[in-house]
Amino acid sequence: MNFLEERIIKDGVVKEGNVLKVDSFLNHQMDVTLLDQLGKAFYERFGDQGITKILTIEASGIAIACSAARYFNVPVVFAKKSKSVNIDGDMYVAEVESFTHKNKNNVIVSKKFLRPGDRVLIIDDFLANGCALQGLISITESACAEVEGIGIAIEKGFQHGGRVIRNLGYNLYSVAIVDAMDAATGEITFREQ
Ligand code: 5GP
Repeated sequence: MNFLEERIIKDGVVKEGNVLKVDSFLNHQMDVTLLDQLGKAFYERFGDQGITKILTIEASGIAIACSAARYFNVPVVFAKKSKSVNIDGDMYVAEVESFTHKNKNNVIVSKKFLRPGDRVLIIDDFLANGCALQGLISITESACAEVEGIGIAIEKGFQHGGRVIRNLGYNLYSVAIVDAMDAATGEITFREQ
């Protein structure tokens, strides 16, 4: 088991509705040593891709993206959730349905911060059905920038997002892939990788 899998077994809590709570070390209280290990893992995987920018989505992706950015030495841009329908032409916009809150948000990135030719590493905390990632990919492509890689801390492999994104040909790396989890027993099974 790797460092993240071990931590999930120790401190993760399986909830009804296919939700894994990791708020004692990743989503609310944050273990910055673990964040640093995640950043390093992404650098080991994508460090030779000529990344010029890291793109994530507020809120939970930001800390992980910042830890990775320390290794890549590039800026982090985070997509902001916006309730506004009147978004001006200075923004890239994508609609994203939230897995945890079951609502839809426009997410926006200023055209100033994502430029044609940028080589983008997308980072997020979880991958479930892939809506958040599809939104970030769409924003990157709207900017005529390239998605060079996608780094996820925890992929829930029993939901379809990972399969869809890999089938589209993206270079997706998840540090931990949960293949099964049981809210009744708390048991969690990881994919060998
Ligand atoms: P997706 O868009 O892939 O369906 O869901 C990804 C987003 O939903 C992530 O940005 C993450 O914030 C949230 N999410 C999805 N599943 C879980 C989960 O099991 N636990 C937590 N804490 N967040 C999740």
